[in-house]
Amino acid sequence: MNNDPASLPVTCLKGVGPKVAEKLARLGLYTIQDILFHLPLRYEDRTRVVPIGSLRPGDSAVVQGEVLLTEVRFGKRRSLLSRISDGTGSLTIRLFHFNAAQKASLERGATLRCYGEVRRGASTLELIHPEYRVVLADEATTVESSLTAVYPTTEGVHQLKLRDLSEQAMSHIASLREWLPASLLESLAMPTLREALRMLHRPAADVPLSGLSDGGHPAQQRLAFEELLAQHLSMRQLRERMQAHQAPALRNSGEFNKRFLQQLPFELTAAQQRVVKECLRDLSRAVPMQRLVQGDVGSGKTAVAACALLHAVESGYQVAVMAPTELLAEQHHRNFRDWLEPLGIKVAWLTGSLKAAARREEMAAIGGGAAQVVVGTHALFQDDVEFDRLGLVVIDEQHRFGVHQRLALREKGRREEGHPHQLIMTATPIPRTLAMTFYADLDCSVIDELPPGRTPVSTVVIPDSRRADIVLRVEQACASGRQVYWVCTLIEESETLQCEAAEDTAQALAAALPGLNVGLVHGRMKAADKEAGMRAFKAGDIDLLVATTVIEVGVDVPNASLMVIENAERLGLAQLHQLRGRVGRGAHESNCVLLYRAPLGQRARDRLAVMRETTDGFEIARHDLEQRGPGEVLGTRQTGLAMLRIADLVRDQALLPAVEQAANLLMQDYPGHVSPLVRRWLGEATRYGEV
Ligand code: ADP
Ligand code: MG
Repeated sequence: MNNDPASLPVTCLKGVGPKVAEKLARLGLYTIQDILFHLPLRYEDRTRVVPIGSLRPGDSAVVQGEVLLTEVRFGKRRSLLSRISDGTGSLTIRLFHFNAAQKASLERGATLRCYGEVRRGASTLELIHPEYRVVLADEATTVESSLTAVYPTTEGVHQLKLRDLSEQAMSHIASLREWLPASLLESLAMPTLREALRMLHRPAADVPLSGLSDGGHPAQQRLAFEELLAQHLSMRQLRERMQAHQAPALRNSGEFNKRFLQQLPFELTAAQQRVVKECLRDLSRAVPMQRLVQGDVGSGKTAVAACALLHAVESGYQVAVMAPTELLAEQHHRNFRDWLEPLGIKVAWLTGSLKAAARREEMAAIGGGAAQVVVGTHALFQDDVEFDRLGLVVIDEQHRFGVHQRLALREKGRREEGHPHQLIMTATPIPRTLAMTFYADLDCSVIDELPPGRTPVSTVVIPDSRRADIVLRVEQACASGRQVYWVCTLIEESETLQCEAAEDTAQALAAALPGLNVGLVHGRMKAADKEAGMRAFKAGDIDLLVATTVIEVGVDVPNASLMVIENAERLGLAQLHQLRGRVGRGAHESNCVLLYRAPLGQRARDRLAVMRETTDGFEIARHDLEQRGPGEVLGTRQTGLAMLRIADLVRDQALLPAVEQAANLLMQDYPGHVSPLVRRWLGEATRYGEV
């Protein structure tokens, strides 16, 4: 399929047997092309001999001089010192490990050529364990003609080996196909792939090192661009494959939606209405909807999902709603039951913790078609779950699911008439440029407006030494009829300990606040107990809910107006934002208290400052991206991202709009280039898309 010589295995290179190949595999290097894309970490300038007199501490340089004196010193550590001079100055070479032959070779009068990093010594500048060799009197001394590349190495594969392999790989460079059209490269002022690789592996002596070290050199940008383009194209391919499938075209009079909206105690915001319209338009088409709805916490994604869902049900199809946690699934179940049962719609329920008899009953309703809507966790796509006529899959808080789970669920509904539609909802706002590139298989809608009457949550950051003040605040909030969350976060990396901490905290708070009803919800409780706890909180029977981070996603209790988060310094921005999103859902002024344990590290301090200063999810996501990198921010979905070799999404963000344009160009005018380009960069990983 791919007879490009660059795709030959590394074992085709001289000096690579099975042993070395195994070690190279540890660096992710399997083919000659991989070696070519294994770029230097940095460069050394060995292109000229530097006068000793001009050296400064910290320089790395080639020097040459005559040995004036060599002696062994017995200090704290035995060392061999050799003083050399080139007429402009002198310096000392210091070896801690040496043998008799080495000592003999450094005799007075010998000429040495050394390369190393210059340090300040006791009396002169020093080179500690430099690379060195004795230059013979009649030898014509040469210097390197290009900067010397220093590659990332692994145990057992040394720098010289990698340099040799890259040298050999470079001889195959002519066989590396150029997939970017010349006109494109010209308009971007970027070099060809070959030029870029030659430049990066063997930069000419006059290339300034500073331009190379920050990744901004055109050759580096060219490779980053191609890699991002390949990533983007792979998502577009996934999209095209989906679009080639059939889906039921759902068209109806919208009776259910009309009745639903009438009974709803509020009006949809303009943003919600717009997104609903986008969904209904997709659903009416005979290709599977693949829509991602982004909306900040509290923007009202559930009501949007309900509208889409009702549309499918009215057309006689089943809808599966998948939530990432039992708690959230339970809340959706309750919510949808309240909303849908008055319309005569049966809502089934399926999670891992369901007892056998109950499970059989739900399964029968799902398989027989009696249940039009099924709410659950990932238990929904276990093998034995059979739907009758699945027409739409709604996935809530998708950042909690992997791409595999999502694709597996889509496969479930597959039948003669085609794939079910998919509606994916996330509260993790993704900066626009990133979404364009890495969600290119999906259509995106944004609910960019919160329901009216919300007051932004005001946030304070307080050391936990002032806990007593906070307990007082809890008491005041509850006295005025509000409710409070108190979140205990990970103390150790152990869920058990976290749950124990929550239990202890609940007891302590109950003792300190005898007038209040204190509830507890954590991950180790039975599902029924968790549910009962949440229900009591929602009903207002509990004033103060002590919880672990299980309440992070989706939980909705509008009367709660104060959120206390312990050890907030241990949580990431996304998680803090999600947790804080549990308050500020009603009309009451809401507060969030971030308790931390001093001392705070710089990054934790920055995170807490961001939380204090903004409630804008996109702004927080931007900071998160800078602090944690996109792999983490986008979660497990974009598996390829973790494998970016050259591009850096933060550093190279500015390339993304051009990447999208280039993708359009290739797909339209050079369709034959798309697959080879994707395969070059993603290799086997592209198979994910073919589920
Ligand atoms: P999220 O987007 O975080 O999933 P939810 O769907 O849970 O948000 O909605 C948050 C709260 O806002 C819920 O109590 C919901 O009933 C309420 N809500 C949703 N849409 C509106 C609206 N248009 N006007 C007023 N309240 C709304
Ligand atoms: Mg939600």
